[in-house]
Amino acid sequence: SLVDMERMFKLLKYQPEVTDAPAAPPLNVTDGAIQFDEVSFSYDGGQTPVLRNVSFSVAAGQTLALVGTSGGGKSTVGRLLFRLYDVQGGAIRIDGQDIRNISQRSLRAAIGVVPQETTLWNNALSYNIRYGAVAMGQEPDAEQVENAARLAQLHERVLGWAEGYQTGVGEKGMRLSGGEKQRVGIARTFIKNPRIVLLDEATSA
Ligand code: ATP
Repeated sequence: SLVDMERMFKLLKYQPEVTDAPAAPPLNVTDGAIQFDEVSFSYDGGQTPVLRNVSFSVAAGQTLALVGTSGGGKSTVGRLLFRLYDVQGGAIRIDGQDIRNISQRSLRAAIGVVPQETTLWNNALSYNIRYGAVAMGQEPDAEQVENAARLAQLHERVLGWAEGYQTGVGEKGMRLSGGEKQRVGIARTFIKNPRIVLLDEATSA
């Protein structure tokens, strides 16, 4: 345990590369319009560019799909929008606000991400769906869980299971099919009810 603790303290000392500007205000989401303006980025300080002068905008209420080759940079676009990394050229704006000038907490609260692989806990299905909102400090009730599952087209399936929403999903969600796992991931994001939804091949199965 002491060895583990030592490692943890080392980790806590790391300075994150992405930091909030001093007194950064929260993001003010009015419409949820996204703009990538001449964005350039590489993971290794410019040696292998992943994105070069990428510009596009997504209006409020609009759905935009990025299609491209494997390793083309689609997931990277999502990571930059979530500000896991800072852009090296250009700017990303949400409702006209450069995401470097607002607090990371407010940015991440406004965006719901359904990743390629959903991490599931060895616990009840309802626990796994609620988790999306609990992480945001909310306490969703059974009705909200059901609504999210309905939106993710999972509810009908759950009705067919003897234990319903109390069904244990198993280690890493082993008890569920690939498509069901992804639906849990989608329901988990819907229960958070974010203004912007980012789906990274979330319906592949
Ligand atoms: P796929 O369709 O296969 O999911 P993608 O278009 O989402 O691919 P990205 O994950 O954005 O591709 O990766 C773009 C490029 O950046 C790839 O060449 C990848 O190897 C590289 N890359 C991704 N993450 C990192 C990282 N953390 N460090 C260094 N290089 C990375």
